Amino acid sequence: MLNADSIVHDRESRVVAVAVDKDHYRIVATEDIAQGQSILTIEGQVTGRPTMYSVQISETAHIDLDDAKLVDKYPERYLWRFLNHHCQPNSVLKGRDLAAVADIKAGEEVTFNYNANEYNIAAPFRCWCDAHDKTMVRLVRGYKYLSATERRQLADLVSPHVLRQAQRDQQPEA
Ligand SMILES: [Zn+2]
Repeated sequence: MLNADSIVHDRESRVVAVAVDKDHYRIVATEDIAQGQSILTIEGQVTGRPTMYSVQISETAHIDLDDAKLVDKYPERYLWRFLNHHCQPNSVLKGRDLAAVADIKAGEEVTFNYNANEYNIAAPFRCWCDAHDKTMVRLVRGYKYLSATERRQLADLVSPHVLRQAQRDQQPEA
């Protein structure tokens, strides 16, 4: 069981903060962030199965929120839970590290594409991002459900673990 004393890698994130507007939470840059720059690290409890909040970091590992007391005590460690999905994001997750894939101006929202690191999302949702026509229903369900075209568009961002899962799915049953 994780307790406050066992936190070892507590790299504070100073380049982003949470902003809330009519119950809509988002993560915004507090200063200009350069393409390639590290933004934050996903901290939390490693679990074997996805949940509503979890972030997939490998074929078998998902990071979930810790105990609520810990989340209350160290809110800055869990800013990642407010990161929204975007179909054309300005950051990407590499393992536990979120890095900018474009220059991000101070005040701009930081987003990543959940389909790039999640294979099968536990709680799918409709995307309202501005990368596409909002009259078109786009469900975010994970890489598993993307069309060949959508997979090609995501080729630069997709995580190796998700590609391995897709490849395994394509192999005929033995
Ligand atoms: Zn979208």
